[in-house]
Amino acid sequence: MKIVTVIGARPQFIKAAAVSDAILRSAISGSDIEEVIIHTGQHYDPNMSDVFFNEMNLPKPKYFLNINGLSHGAMTGQMLEEVEKVLLEEKPDWVLVYGDTNSTLAGALAASKLHIKIAHVEAGLRSFNMRMPEEVNRILTDRVSTLLLCPTQTAVDNLVKEGYNNLNIDVEVTGDVMLDASNLFVKHARKPSFDVPESFILSTIHRAENTDDKKKLSEIFRAINHIAKTTSVVLPLHPRTKNYVSKYDIMIGENVHIIDPVGYLEMIYLLQHCHMVFTDSGGLQKEAYFFKRFCVTLREETEWVELIEHGANTLVGSDYVKIMEAYHKSKNAMVDFEKNLYGNGDASDKIVSTIINLSN
Ligand code: UDP
Repeated sequence: MKIVTVIGARPQFIKAAAVSDAILRSAISGSDIEEVIIHTGQHYDPNMSDVFFNEMNLPKPKYFLNINGLSHGAMTGQMLEEVEKVLLEEKPDWVLVYGDTNSTLAGALAASKLHIKIAHVEAGLRSFNMRMPEEVNRILTDRVSTLLLCPTQTAVDNLVKEGYNNLNIDVEVTGDVMLDASNLFVKHARKPSFDVPESFILSTIHRAENTDDKKKLSEIFRAINHIAKTTSVVLPLHPRTKNYVSKYDIMIGENVHIIDPVGYLEMIYLLQHCHMVFTDSGGLQKEAYFFKRFCVTLREETEWVELIEHGANTLVGSDYVKIMEAYHKSKNAMVDFEKNLYGNGDASDKIVSTIINLSN
């Protein structure tokens, strides 16, 4: 059985590292399963792409499409065309896609038009904000998929509300593959090469709704600069955010350590050593929980609602006052980090065995 995996963005490399490892183990133990990887090129900087293939044993992509730096429509359109060519050549039994990027949607659409079965990892998540490109990508991908692999029961409930019970689509709860990835790589955590402060807040900012809006990005940095007067902030800066910080001429305060994006092994080290996380990332909100750190989320809504309900995360958007309030409150937050909100760390094995079972 042949699976073609379509990936192209940083979080997909991390998720695919866990699932590819499970595919490989399944093949070694005798399953008839083979994976071919297409890298669309959506993220292509060495520190946004190569580092993950080099550090995480991710099989080398057989196809690199080099599609990037385009508007959403042009990027998705070109990917659709190029992925289709590969699928016609490879004739896989399944196409495997992850999350909610343009690469996800293009991979799923190309497969659906060729009547190839599609497995969607991280299915059923919703922010209910249709202005987010990610929300559109995930809703459309879910709808054309054959198998929806949900990280949580909340994701399944979302699908049920949308009427998926009446569709001929398999829905499984597997737990979250990001938990598998952090379990798999925690023993290889590595100190980054810069002078990591003794005590710090870890922050990442890259969502278009924050970066592309001068007022929002300036407010976030006003809060971060203020907080940094008492606690260092380490901020691995996404290339998009870097561009906007310079375009909007945003001042970076003392004690805000701006560094280039780091690899996953260094990210784990930073998660282990920070005392709190400030982010607009989807994945990092969950990793904060895995590493028992409170998370202040710089967004108005989150797909990971269990974290909010559980008191491990608070939503503040980009409002200076709200960010400062959350910072002061969360210093004393008492959170039970032991609850398995995201499964048992065996999501990748469940994903592979479900695909194998549905192929027999
Ligand atoms: N990440 C990383 N290096 C960085 C910043 C983030 O390895 O410099 C990892 C992070 O630990 C998480 C993933 O990238 O596993 C999250 O990706 P991102 O925030 O780009 O996307 P999202 O999760 O919001 O879709």
